[in-house]
Amino acid sequence: MIYLDNAATTKMYDEALEAYVDVCKNHYANPSALHSYGMQAENLIKNTKKYIGKLISASESEIFFTKSATESNNIAIKSFDGAAITSKIEHSSVFNTFKNSNFSDIRFVNNDKYGFIEEENLKNKLDNNISFVSFIYVNNEIGTIQDIKKLSKIIKDYNKDIVIHIDATQAMGKISCDVNSLGVDMMSFSAHKFHGPKQLGGLYIRKNIQGKIKPILDGGYQEIISSGTNNPPAIYACGIALRKQVEANEYAYIEELNHYLRLLIEENIKDTYIISPLESSSAYILDVAFANIKSEVLLHMLEEEEIYVSSGSACSKGDYSRILSALNIDKKYMDGAIRFSFSGDITKEDLDFTVKVLKESIEIIRMVI
Ligand code: PMP
Repeated sequence: MIYLDNAATTKMYDEALEAYVDVCKNHYANPSALHSYGMQAENLIKNTKKYIGKLISASESEIFFTKSATESNNIAIKSFDGAAITSKIEHSSVFNTFKNSNFSDIRFVNNDKYGFIEEENLKNKLDNNISFVSFIYVNNEIGTIQDIKKLSKIIKDYNKDIVIHIDATQAMGKISCDVNSLGVDMMSFSAHKFHGPKQLGGLYIRKNIQGKIKPILDGGYQEIISSGTNNPPAIYACGIALRKQVEANEYAYIEELNHYLRLLIEENIKDTYIISPLESSSAYILDVAFANIKSEVLLHMLEEEEIYVSSGSACSKGDYSRILSALNIDKKYMDGAIRFSFSGDITKEDLDFTVKVLKESIEIIRMVI
């Protein structure tokens, strides 16, 4: 099997899975319990917060666990009102949450054909009504890394009280997520994107704005901003996975894979458009469109050879993908985008085979239509 769908989710690291099982077996008390067995579970949570805090230059009390990055994004956006700025290429957990939020005025900043936000357009959209800005840090479909540091400086120079939230779901553990150098007030992440367990998200919230946050789940407020019994096995495993992801130090290798695949595709397959930018793009993601191809058909042909990718053109109700539309790419490529997303266990041989199957499949599809 060649699994090239790591931006959708990753395989848990063995160490994270073992940690998960160990906590289930040996530290299963409720972390809110007053007895010492419960405190053991609570300490696992505390230590994980400490580690994550250190990694992103925050304190333990600024890290909160949620059920998913989706919940984190909901909490961040639904805590504010007035006017907000966001981009057209956000993940649906941001895009749709804005639609269902308390904001009366949502302004979508322009981007170029690689998804980079146009700074002048951002400046033009700022005014005294803006209270909140949310941007995706690494785009989940195309990999574009937004220059958050630059954007947050523009925003804070205009008004330091504007709250900046970033969705760092595809960034955490892979590129620097130092909240101080990025200049952000809130940051969402999700354990299953860095080889941790599913349904465990996190939200960094800078101390000075914590009083403004409104939970979307009411109950015992175990995580203050979220309710429900905490999940020590998943939280502990999240910390172990994140540490392993960081210590794997694999970025240069992933970049080599990404550039290798890019070149192989360009050399072997005609009428191809590489959507992901070459620079300032996450090495973990390569989005490529093939002219006059239906990506879903191609995806299933790859699947027959146990190669798993994602359709970058996932459209809803017959419309083109919202992200590809926002990039303004040529119509002939709109249906044919495939997202390849890497992990450290992919080899160049895997990519050789992938391109061989890709080439054959595309030739067959193009012959039929
Ligand atoms: N934001 C981005 C950028 C993502 O890639 C994803 C997952 N596809 C999410 C948010 C949602 O994460 P979760 O699965 O934890 O809800």
